Amino acid sequence: MLPVRYLDHNATSALRPEARAAMDHVLIAHGNPSSIHRAGRAARGALEAARTEVAGLVGARPEQVIFTSGGTEANALALWGAVQGAAAAGAPVGALYLSAIEHDSVFRTAAAIAQRNTGIRLVSVPVTQDGVVDLDALGELLNEVSRPALVAVMAANNETGVIQPVTDVIALVHGAGGFCLVDAVQARGRIAADFAVSGTDYLTLSAHKLGGPQGTGALVVRDGVPLAPQITGGSQERNRRAGTENVAGIAGFGAAAKACRQDDSSAALRDAFEFGLRQRFPDVIIFGESTPRLANTSNFAIPGIAAESAIIALDLDGVMVSSGAACSSGKVKPSHVLQAMGVPAELARSALRVSLGWNSTLTDVEAALASLEKLSARIRARMAA
Ligand code: PMP
Repeated sequence: MLPVRYLDHNATSALRPEARAAMDHVLIAHGNPSSIHRAGRAARGALEAARTEVAGLVGARPEQVIFTSGGTEANALALWGAVQGAAAAGAPVGALYLSAIEHDSVFRTAAAIAQRNTGIRLVSVPVTQDGVVDLDALGELLNEVSRPALVAVMAANNETGVIQPVTDVIALVHGAGGFCLVDAVQARGRIAADFAVSGTDYLTLSAHKLGGPQGTGALVVRDGVPLAPQITGGSQERNRRAGTENVAGIAGFGAAAKACRQDDSSAALRDAFEFGLRQRFPDVIIFGESTPRLANTSNFAIPGIAAESAIIALDLDGVMVSSGAACSSGKVKPSHVLQAMGVPAELARSALRVSLGWNSTLTDVEAALASLEKLSARIRARMAA
């Protein structure tokens, strides 16, 4: 059987054994954390232990963590919750500032908010050619605000891995009397780790990017910031997100959060991959390479090799990578992230993303390089013929 080389951990990471064990335990025990009998108390124990781990991952206090169904819901809760909460407190948000490289869950939620609240402006914050949010531009844009702004800047970009100057952003935003949402879904606890120190108002996480299960995430909120609940019903999550908790998923999230604090093994592998790329393809372009990036992510383009065909060719060799472009309903559209960095559309069509994880090996990396080399030789032979 073809060995499987999974190099797409930014899409979803492999489930860590610790997470699976924690989930199994909860699934077998089955109890509702709101019940007072012993099964309920056991479930509550698992839930709160996970909350402590997730809080610890980002340097927050457990009660600041609100579990959600994932990063998308956490971003939606932060944005809607902040806007509605601020309005209810008599200090309505005047504008939503979004970095040009945010995830669609931020863009689309913000667009829906602006559509329903005509008083709220949407402002795009540009990034530099390296894919870093432009602090000068943000500072100038913030000068224009008369009412508090809610600013969304992700901790690290999902496509390029480029790390954002979150602490500087927060200082600017707080200086202008605004609030900041930091989508840390891809930062997986490696950076912007200290929620308390950075002063982030809203921080979002997703379990499946760090070796936990899909469908579980968290919003971490600073004390005293506005937050109107979006799902009401029971008093779960301190009345901030109703509904019986996904205890098994959350237990897996907690175990993954604990495990990922101890490992950061991807850097050497990513460097080995990029070294091999440059040797084989001297004309390769690595996006964001001159600025700090997540240690596990490489987004690159080999001129003449279209991303779509490369993904298919590599997959036939058992190597799974993704394109730098968002694929929706079967159509590959140019990546808005590369576009915002000023990458020409033609080059963006060649963008591939290799993202490593806790179980990646040098053999995986070598297999990816060998498969790319094979594909390139085939293309060259076709051109020559
Ligand atoms: N934000 C970022 C930066 C992401 O990469 C993703 C997942 N692709 C999300 C949010 C959404 O997370 P989830 O899949 O848990 O809804």
